Amino acid sequence: MENYIVSARKYRPDSFQMVVGQDAITKTLKNIIKLNQIGQAYLFCGPRGVGKTTCARIFAKTINCTNLSEDGEACNQCESCVSFNSQRSLNIHELDAASNNSVDDIRNLIDQVRIPPQIGKYSVYIIDEFHMLSSNAFNAFLKTLEEPPKHVVFILATTEKHKIIPTILSRCQIFDFNRISVEDIKKRLEFVAKNENIIAESDALHIIAQKADGAMRDALSIFDQIVSFTGGKITYDETIKNLNVLDYDTYFYITEALVNGDYVKSLQIFDNVIKRGFEASYFINGLASHFRDLLMVKDPGTINLIEVGENIKQKYLTNSSLCSVQFLFKAIDIANTTDLSYKAAQNKRLLIELALLKISNINKNLGTITETQNQPEKHPITKVEEKPTQYLTGSTTTKENTTQAQTSTNTKAGKESLSQGKIGISLKNKLQQKASEEQIVKEEEKKTYGKDLITPDKVESAWVKYAEYESENPRLKAFLNNHVPKQKEGNTYFVVVENNAIKEKLESFRQRTLDFMRTELNNEDFDIEYNVGKASPKVDYKTPTEKFHELLKEKPEIVKLKENLDLDLE
Ligand SMILES: [Zn+2]
Repeated sequence: MENYIVSARKYRPDSFQMVVGQDAITKTLKNIIKLNQIGQAYLFCGPRGVGKTTCARIFAKTINCTNLSEDGEACNQCESCVSFNSQRSLNIHELDAASNNSVDDIRNLIDQVRIPPQIGKYSVYIIDEFHMLSSNAFNAFLKTLEEPPKHVVFILATTEKHKIIPTILSRCQIFDFNRISVEDIKKRLEFVAKNENIIAESDALHIIAQKADGAMRDALSIFDQIVSFTGGKITYDETIKNLNVLDYDTYFYITEALVNGDYVKSLQIFDNVIKRGFEASYFINGLASHFRDLLMVKDPGTINLIEVGENIKQKYLTNSSLCSVQFLFKAIDIANTTDLSYKAAQNKRLLIELALLKISNINKNLGTITETQNQPEKHPITKVEEKPTQYLTGSTTTKENTTQAQTSTNTKAGKESLSQGKIGISLKNKLQQKASEEQIVKEEEKKTYGKDLITPDKVESAWVKYAEYESENPRLKAFLNNHVPKQKEGNTYFVVVENNAIKEKLESFRQRTLDFMRTELNNEDFDIEYNVGKASPKVDYKTPTEKFHELLKEKPEIVKLKENLDLDLE
């Protein structure tokens, strides 16, 4: 350990064969050399750390080797190779355009270009971050690129190909470097660890490989970092701690909470993740992948599609056994949709919290559905979407309800929901009858299909929670607490505000408000209006509905009568 040399340098590949994860490119380069078809300008494009400069150096060494091997590799023994390997070769010139991008820098380079090499055939000029050249430097260079001396080879490397002008592109052979796969990086790390007598847990190397995000160079420097932290014994736990990587356990833990509908715990876990300094987007993205992986281990046919070590795989199996396939479908969908709308969201934290609330509601909804309908379904998820929410909203007309009923299934449940629909309408505008209302509501709730009935009381308590939610903005919180929505009609509620400016402000995050309220109320039909002025929208409390209610309170059998006669209270 004491003699440990930083592996990023030590294990920098010095032959094409050693380059990791760029097989197509190294093969082509070797062929170019074998067939002696060496061009004068190459453009190496691709993300950082994937081997562009390394390949350029190997290429420079190999085309100057006087004793090439049969498969097109440098001999590492001839005079040229030795000087290359000890970094003394005069045949290679490297310029980092990120820091040397002036016209003068380029002029210096152009002056050198004329001088032929003393040993070997080619002078190779590697210009890194080529897109960073100033436009004057660019133009100065262009002329040389058009007519370079025979002994010169330019290798331009860039992470941003789209910034290279067509005049340059058309003069270069272009090589696109890919990100290196997690598996390839991991294999390489295993090799390095073995060579250095470092004990490394497979799961730990996996985490490093993932963290490196396709860049071998990064993987090796992370590896070095962990080695120096751990004194040569790389464990999964230490790696997680040092890299501040969101560990698998966080996802296993939150999955447990979500499956059990424990949204409080899930929000706490998420809060903890944020406190540990992780980006919310990183978390939700990881959660989507986690659900995906849980789904994969559900079936022996797909179990090998997850990229984890053996120990972690066992944990996945355990965690996955908690989740139904339906839960996972729905959860992946929610997590993925959240991930997609993340960029546009104003309150990103709330967006993710809402997603967690929705996910923790999945099993609740699914459970109710299977209990009530009690019939085998091929696509339970789509069925959930189609559950007869309209019947309970009370905001639609009877005509619409009937149409809905006709399109719904002819099962007993379907017919029941129709009858509920009629009661639902009769529930309209019952603000003044708290006592009877609560009784009816309780009966209603027993028959709901995973959509909770919305009542003014529930709206009020949800609204208080929402105000609490916005407590980052104390003025908004106070405002919300003083402006509790009132029922307008059915599931539409209204808030009276003092002026248009306030109304506009509230409208600007209306969707956020709705998302919260709908989740909290467990009913997506909740809607809200903002009205300017002191007068509330006209609510006629003396509707036939109200009278019907009063009657109902005394004689519940009237419901039956009303159904049989298909009466419309409107
Ligand atoms: Zn050689």
